[in-house]
Amino acid sequence: MGLFVFSFSEVAKMLKNVPAGDLVRKDELKSLFGGKGYNLAKIFSAKLPVPPGFIVSVKAFEDYHKSKNLSNELMDEIKKYIRELEIDTNRVFNVRNDLYDDEKERRIPLLVSVRSGSKISMPGMLDTILNLGMNDNSANRMYEITNNKKFVMGVYLRFIQMFADVVKKVPKSEFDNCKINSDDFLQEAKKYKDIYKKFVSEDFPDDPYLQIKLAIGAVFASWNSSKAVFYRKMNSISSSLGTAVNIQMMVFGNYGQNSGTGVVFSRNPIHGDKELFGEYLPNAQGEDVVAGHSTPHMISYLNDSCRKIYEELEKYSEILEAEFKDMQDIEFTIENGKLYILQTRSGKRSSQAAIKICVDLIKENKISVREAISRIELSQIEMSIYSSFSPQEVSELTPIANGLSASPGVASGVVVFNTSDAKKEFSAGKNVILVRKETSPEDIEGIQFSSGILTSCGGVTSHAAVIARGMGKCCIVGCSDIEVEEDHFNFKTPDGIRKVKSGDSISLDCCTGNIYLSELKTYFAEPSEEFKTFMSYVDSFSTVKVYANADNKKDLKKSLDFGASGVGLCRTEHMFFGEERIEVMREMILAKGNKKSEAIKKLLSFQKQDFLEMFLEAKGMPVTIRFLDPPLHEFLPKTKEAKLSVMNNLEMKPEEFDVLIESFSEFNPMMGHRGSRLLISYPEIIKMQTEAVITAALEAKERCKDIDIVPEIMIPFINHEKEIEFIVGIIRECADSIILNSEINLDYKIGTMIELPRAALVADKLATYVDFFSFGTNDLTQTTYGISRDDFSKVLKDYRKNNIYKFDPFCRIDEDGVGALIKMAIRIGKKGNKNLKIGVCGEHGGEHHSIRFFESIGVDYVSCSPYRVLSARFSSALARIERKN
Ligand code: PEP
Ligand code: MG
Repeated sequence: MGLFVFSFSEVAKMLKNVPAGDLVRKDELKSLFGGKGYNLAKIFSAKLPVPPGFIVSVKAFEDYHKSKNLSNELMDEIKKYIRELEIDTNRVFNVRNDLYDDEKERRIPLLVSVRSGSKISMPGMLDTILNLGMNDNSANRMYEITNNKKFVMGVYLRFIQMFADVVKKVPKSEFDNCKINSDDFLQEAKKYKDIYKKFVSEDFPDDPYLQIKLAIGAVFASWNSSKAVFYRKMNSISSSLGTAVNIQMMVFGNYGQNSGTGVVFSRNPIHGDKELFGEYLPNAQGEDVVAGHSTPHMISYLNDSCRKIYEELEKYSEILEAEFKDMQDIEFTIENGKLYILQTRSGKRSSQAAIKICVDLIKENKISVREAISRIELSQIEMSIYSSFSPQEVSELTPIANGLSASPGVASGVVVFNTSDAKKEFSAGKNVILVRKETSPEDIEGIQFSSGILTSCGGVTSHAAVIARGMGKCCIVGCSDIEVEEDHFNFKTPDGIRKVKSGDSISLDCCTGNIYLSELKTYFAEPSEEFKTFMSYVDSFSTVKVYANADNKKDLKKSLDFGASGVGLCRTEHMFFGEERIEVMREMILAKGNKKSEAIKKLLSFQKQDFLEMFLEAKGMPVTIRFLDPPLHEFLPKTKEAKLSVMNNLEMKPEEFDVLIESFSEFNPMMGHRGSRLLISYPEIIKMQTEAVITAALEAKERCKDIDIVPEIMIPFINHEKEIEFIVGIIRECADSIILNSEINLDYKIGTMIELPRAALVADKLATYVDFFSFGTNDLTQTTYGISRDDFSKVLKDYRKNNIYKFDPFCRIDEDGVGALIKMAIRIGKKGNKNLKIGVCGEHGGEHHSIRFFESIGVDYVSCSPYRVLSARFSSALARIERKN
């Protein structure tokens, strides 16, 4: 065993000695050998046909980055492992004429692949070199053995081009323009080497040991290429991980028609169905499939042309899936009728497929529910409900072309042909469709700014497809119907007449692969059965329930569809803004005497109806109704016409009216006459809202006898125990007398929001008056920081630039400050009332990291906007699993 280098069999032995449950050791080995090397060793130990090889570990990478050189010590180890590989394969790495003349048995040249392999897979971001070891001697030798000039030429030229590109950054296009006009591979290789020399002012290295040294250095250096750095940043992959390098005997898929190469997924990565999915390209090398230069056949082609190998592949994919307990993305090569597995890794998949695969693996007893939940990412939950076009609208259109669907969903927007235009249009607020002949990993930034990707070449396992799928982008590849002219910023439609230009609108339907020449409206789809099953598993793991912030029946319905367990915040002020109601509200605020009482009566009947609808919709789930919170001036008329209308209604004179309106103005209304302060000044509002809640609940109970309805009344902006004593007193008196006069028995709860630091500090005193606390973290953050929640974005820009805040405390809870207050308030609040229920209803209630914090401090429920309910349910379960881990 080396210090830096390890053979697959050595790593396989090390893995066998790790106890099944020792995740820490497994992780250490993955860090040392990279994901690809680790998995190759596993394939090796499962006795699958993997080309032999060895791993230059991440330790060597670290060493290289310190000294910017491959040490002699490391090179000695590499030579030792090459020698072992020569013995193992009965091939020779450095074919020399003199040695070869002496040899009795004429040995085949040993060519190797040099591939990167970091702990976390970064498809296409790091460099690879194939056919290393080629020089004139090995080329001649290969020709003697194969008698196939075309094959030898293909192998030799590809090597020179790849080496030149990866090691010396010679643009591929330099070679593309070189004419091949003979079958003399040495002569044609010389032309390539001349291009190399012209570009780098050095001879092309013929010595395989020098080739391997330079190649490994270049793969290590590719860790810091701009595309790799960007990819890591986008996927939050630590830059300190580094990469290993895997050296493996080359097998040749380009040996003839009996050879080929391909990629298979053990399950369908688009929808998750349990079927072999992939592509096969006869007489080609592996890079041809993933780079997207040519459009390969679907894997069924292999089934038709060589059933035996297809069945072998099916068997291996089952073995690998069972070994890794996850859907696998397997690269294979067939050399002269013999199948080799080149690598396997957990396959990237669409969000929809990720959920289905997890649910199926649970049912197949391959993974636990806990494991399944940990494997899913929050973004996959968010992306699981895919958009679609209206079937009606689509049925009226003829697609201009059809391609291969590489990820689900639909997208429409303006066409662009490069990353910088994608960025420009995206910044201008437009939806963007990136159209390319084929995408390369350099396009990753452009993909990020795009809603959809369309390519004329490449298959569904090309890098473009893999990346788009992982990012939840709609993607159609291999659309050979169209002709993309990137330099002229257009593509020709199949009729050859029309040109779609930069800035034109198109729509992609990734379910059918159809492309339409107009901007279609997108709609959200219904969640799948598997998704519902997965979410039921999720709920069985959560202790923090997820309620919704909903102010009307429509929002409540949406929230329940997303699986909310109740309403944690109904902001009643939102019920007063309708055209018909705002006038009445204004009268209630501004009128006196009978007019005021009449307005209150009208508002009462509106509110009762609103609450009744919500109680009926919630079917016994908790509905938390917050009494009026904002300062009253927010309801007052602002325009001339509106003012005139109210003034006439109230039969007031202009001067009198202006003075009255002016009396409501405040210097700092967010800190002013609002919430509990307002309720204390206007006890008639408390009474009206209590009556509306209680009578609506009684009526709902009467209508649905089998449902127990317990309304929850919530008081905003409390500061002082005396405030709460006063308000609770009025609510109880009013509610109890209504219930007493009713035939129906009704229980109700009263709670307070904790959204001011003083309230948190005296939480033990407040708790004695109420059944629950709900932390209004929007105001609590505003008042703890002393920063206006409405103006914070101006501050944040500079704070971000100067690295003062890591994140926006209005989005993610500040655990050290606001979080500490909440934690303390819960602790002392429970001293005041041990049965106190604890909720959070500020925006933080729907935010992933904040939910993790709330889960850890004993919050019973979070409440968030309807569209965040799904992800909050997931965050809640994950928080518990991670804490227990
Ligand atoms: C809060 O302050 O967190 C809250 C939920 O109330 P609002 O946003 O309505 O002020
Ligand atoms: Mg508030």
